[in-house]
Amino acid sequence: MQYFDAHCHIQFSAYDDDREAVVKRMQEAEVGGLVVGVNLASSQAAFELVQSAENLFASVGLHPNDMSEVFDLEAFEELARQPKVVALGECGLDYYRPEEPAAVKQKQKKVFEQQIELAVKYNKPLMIHSRPSKGTQDAYHDTIDLLTSKKHKYGDRLKGDMHFFVGGIEEARKFVDLDFTLSYTAVITFARDYDEVIRYIPRTHLLTETDSPYVAPAPNRGKRNEPLAAKEVVKAFAQIRGEEEEDVRLAVLQNAAKIFSFS
Ligand SMILES: [Zn+2]
Repeated sequence: MQYFDAHCHIQFSAYDDDREAVVKRMQEAEVGGLVVGVNLASSQAAFELVQSAENLFASVGLHPNDMSEVFDLEAFEELARQPKVVALGECGLDYYRPEEPAAVKQKQKKVFEQQIELAVKYNKPLMIHSRPSKGTQDAYHDTIDLLTSKKHKYGDRLKGDMHFFVGGIEEARKFVDLDFTLSYTAVITFARDYDEVIRYIPRTHLLTETDSPYVAPAPNRGKRNEPLAAKEVVKAFAQIRGEEEEDVRLAVLQNAAKIFSFS
């Protein structure tokens, strides 16, 4: 493996017509991937998809924007104990929609905690989706508070990645202190808002992801994305940080291998 996409959704229907070809392209380019579920059905689909490919792993969870679904603890636990399921999520707190009622936030927190408990029980990392409301860092602050209290209780068994990180240096520092990684998509090939934070984060705590089918890199903006774009994220990291591309590639690959326990 040369690259790792720490967050993609190639089990989604956007790939129904050519999923095999996408996986084959990944294998040829030596790109591994974590296929992330957002509810029970897409988590089961992720689990099934990764069985046939050595370079693919699954994350299972219930997304904070999917709170219409009841968290089926028994079904998720059955998945969580499987060896090719290497993470729990996406889970977290999403306050982006300003009309989000307090009851939804409460439920997000409860379901997030259930997934934290499962992750700790099976010693697997969390794949966290937390998104603040516009112009604030509110969801990150609540996530940091919750993780800090769990860290006191669970120590090193609590670990994970902040997917699609849009926080500032202050928030990055706190997640790094909790020993969480921060992952970026190919958004950083065209948006310059994250450069300062990306330069700040220690190389030991960076991961590449694509969030495919979303957020394709610069030349393909608006089109369906693919995990191969993890290469573009490595290139962008190297450019932004003023580091050698090969050093960055190796470092972020090792970070992924460490957190998701593959080699
Ligand atoms: Zn996602």
